[in-house]
Amino acid sequence: MTYPKVELHCHMDGAIPERLFIRYCREDGLVPEGMSDEEWMKQNVMSGTMSLSDCMGLFGVLTGILQSKERLEELSFELLKDMYESGTKLVELRFSPQSHLNENLSMEEAVKAVLRGRKRALEVYPDLVCGFLLCMMNLGLNLGTIENNTRTVELAAKYKDQGVVGIDLAGDECATPIEDYAVQFELARKLGVNYTIHAGESGPASNVKFAIDQGGHRIGHGIHSIEDDALVNELVNKGILLEVSTTSNYFSRSVSSLEEHPIRKLWNRGVMININTDDPALMGITLKHEYDLLERLFGFTEKEFILSNIYSARTSFCEGKEKIIAELMEAFHKC
Ligand SMILES: [Zn+2]
Repeated sequence: MTYPKVELHCHMDGAIPERLFIRYCREDGLVPEGMSDEEWMKQNVMSGTMSLSDCMGLFGVLTGILQSKERLEELSFELLKDMYESGTKLVELRFSPQSHLNENLSMEEAVKAVLRGRKRALEVYPDLVCGFLLCMMNLGLNLGTIENNTRTVELAAKYKDQGVVGIDLAGDECATPIEDYAVQFELARKLGVNYTIHAGESGPASNVKFAIDQGGHRIGHGIHSIEDDALVNELVNKGILLEVSTTSNYFSRSVSSLEEHPIRKLWNRGVMININTDDPALMGITLKHEYDLLERLFGFTEKEFILSNIYSARTSFCEGKEKIIAELMEAFHKC
């Protein structure tokens, strides 16, 4: 059965279509002379597990080639186009404006560039529902500053009516405690900005607990919640959705094997889950790959997938999602 897919956790830079990645790398002279596209891709796509810090290193190549307005706009448009054409009709993309300042772009210009790409995508696909989350960065790996994190929240508030739907805290959650960002979350609440927080991916269940106590409306990954019974109950009772990315969690060594991933246990306990790619280009996967994996390893049924998409659409920060929810409900009842 075909039904609209909902993806809420996808990093725009980690999702760059191969055609753009190769073109930008060649334009920037990064590909050694005589090297084929295939060889270059092999060097830049993960084929197995890596530490989160090493993943961030590969991310450096991706952000390195995305330092101009033109490329950010083009990536935003092309990625939304690819996602829509592969059946994902409700999309939240995320990126960190402060990671694109190497060539004198301002954070605001970076935000405006991706929003231009979004606008163009909506002109071509009027029934696409999409928005951007602006990521604050964990300060631990020198990927961000306090000032830029605060600016991220302010920009999210400023562009709230133009396609920015919230903020996120990304980066290595084990590098510095999530508690350190309480001031920015407080500001987000004051400015009426929605937020999701990367927590309980490589870090412990207590990080998820803190993220919820901070008012996190959704949690990025949150898979280690399974280690705390009371926390799982709280997720269920408060209707907090986990944005889970099975392959990514395995590649970042947040679970020791794919088979040991707790997604089935969390789902069976009643936790709402969204299925995501996280960084599909970096990991050489697609959303379909993730669905197939969950069906094969954990026996997820079509009806469960549709239900997961209903939960995801309901908890999405995007406006104008009612039609997609209705389509999903119809598919659910037919299934
Ligand atoms: Zn992520």
